[in-house]
This record gives sequence, structure tokens and C-alpha cells, in this order.
Amino acid sequence: AKEHGGAGRLEIYAAHMHARVVSRLELQTELRQALADREFVLEYQPVVDLASSRVTAVEALVRWQHDESLVPPAEFIGPAEESGLITPLGEWILREACEKVASWRVSEWDIGLSVNLSVKQILSPRFVETVAGVLAESGLPAEVLTMEVDEEVLLENPGEAVERLAQLRELGVRLAIDDFGMGYASLAHLRELRVDAIKIDPSFVRDLGNDGTVTLLTHTIIRLGQDLGMQVIAEGIEAPEQLEQLRSMGCGHGQGFLVARPMVASGVEALVGGEAGIPL
Ligand code: C2E
Ligand code: MG
Ligand code: MG
Ligand code: MG
Repeated sequence: AKEHGGAGRLEIYAAHMHARVVSRLELQTELRQALADREFVLEYQPVVDLASSRVTAVEALVRWQHDESLVPPAEFIGPAEESGLITPLGEWILREACEKVASWRVSEWDIGLSVNLSVKQILSPRFVETVAGVLAESGLPAEVLTMEVDEEVLLENPGEAVERLAQLRELGVRLAIDDFGMGYASLAHLRELRVDAIKIDPSFVRDLGNDGTVTLLTHTIIRLGQDLGMQVIAEGIEAPEQLEQLRSMGCGHGQGFLVARPMVASGVEALVGGEAGIPL
């Protein structure tokens, strides 16, 4: 009976695994098709100067327009990395965003662009040449573009990833550490690689005011960034109290649902219209 039970469980487990593997492969095929069919779309989330409330940049965030739903990146960036699709997808994202922001800048609107990178993309051959090519073709000045990398990028592949990112920086592109403060190695990374900005992880912003340690840590991160001459951007600002705390701590920039949600390009145009700040 024991043997039978064991085999039965194994069979169910195997069937379950099979279904998962198939769906993973199917998803990868669907994603490839989606890129060919131009089903990916970009939203842009405004980043504001906290002192003036003016929009200084937008962060491009990819979505998959699949059937009736808008699929968030958490559901497909991982599979796209596994299948290697992230390389052409990442190039599409970069090109699309650079062209859009370059078109805004033609009308004298001084706005920056942030684009997220995944490690697979950074390590793919010709990555730096691709970025240089997209900048040249879109006409976007390199210093207008910030590329955001998570700390894990540096943790998992320190040598090569750091070297590629340093090459990007030589092009004039700015670098930002995304979700800063989540990894223990945050500080060490700042020695290995010169970065222009740090984005404070939303988990800090969420507990501002409620948790004395978090508040102190946030203040310390802001000071650290300032002392190192970096731009500091707080992410995930949802409440007016969080905004006030960050302002009083001297945090330079902010992003979050309270400021503005990610929106399609026409939404950004309507919201900012070139000059005015967001009333905050
Ligand atoms: P991220 O780069 O840290 O982007 C910020 C995420 O926080 C976005 O989620 C944004 O919609 C969300 N967010 C912004 N403000 C708030 C807020 O006030 N509250 C809350 N709860 N969330 C807020 P999204 O668009 O789902 O993206 C998730 C992650 O997927 C991104 O995190 C980034 O790591 C990755 N991702 C997004 N677009 C791309 C892309 O084009 N390429 C790559 N490689 N990764 C991307
Ligand atoms: Mg980001
Ligand atoms: Mg990220
Ligand atoms: Mg982040």
C-alpha cells in the first residue's frame, strides 16, 4: 500500500510538472509571437522634483496587451529572460521609449527617460553597441537616458555586468540602482560601479513614520546619496505623509501612485503639457 501510494503521488506530481513545463514553453512561444505582432506596449510613470513638483523624467514600464488584459511585467520578464527573448524585447522597449522622449524634446520639453535593464540583456552580445545605435538613430542625447539595474544584477554577475555598465556610462548614459536598500551588498556596489542615481525601494517609503528604524535608514540613504553626489529618487509614494517626510528629509525626487500612475504616452502629454508641475 505504501509503495502504491508513493507511485501514485509520483504520477500526479509528474503530470503536474509536465503541465507546468508545457505552459512555460507555450508562454515563451506566445511571447515571441507577441513581439512579432507588436502586442507589447509601454507606459510611462512620471518622476517629479519634490521641491518644485515638476516632472523631470519618466520611467518606461512594459506591459503585454494580451487578449483583453494588460499583463504586468512580473508575469513575463522572467520567462522572456529564460528564453532569450529579453534581448530583442529589451531593444524594442529601448527604441520605442527613446523615440517617444526624443519627440517630446523636439518641442523644447526638457524631460529625461529611465529604462529598466535585466541582467540577461546586459550580458547579451553587442548590448552596448545596440544602446549606442538606438541613441544615434533616435537622436536622444545619451545623458538624457538613465538605465536602471536591480542590485541582483551586480550580485549575480559582478565582473562582466559591471564592465558592461561602465561601458554604458562611457557612452554618457546615466546609471541608477533600482530598489536600493533591499540587498545587503548595496553599499559595496557603490564602490564597484559609479552610479548617478539611487532609487529607494518602496518598502522603505511604505513604513516611513510608522517605523523609527526605517525612517532613520531612509534618512541615512538620502544623506549618503547626496554626499556621493547622486540623485536620490524615492519610489512608491502613495500617501501625503510619506511625501511630506521625504521632502523634509531633503529627498530630491519621487515617484509613486500619489504623484502619478504609470500611463500611456498621450496621458503624460495631457498631464504635463510641457511646463506645469503636478499639484502636490
Ligand atoms: P521597477 O523598475 O521597480 O518599477 C516600479 C514598479 O512599481 C512598477 O511596476 C510601477 O507600476 C510600480 N509602482 C509605481 N508607483 C507605485 C506605488 O506608488 N505603489 C505601488 N504599489 N507600486 C508602484 P510594474 O510596471 O508592474 O513593474 C514591475 C517591475 O518589472 C519593475 O520594477 C521592473 O523591475 C520590471 N520591469 C518593468 N518594465 C520593464 C522593462 O521594460 N524591462 C525590464 N527588464 N524590466 C521591466
Ligand atoms: Mg525601475
Ligand atoms: Mg526594477
Ligand atoms: Mg523599483
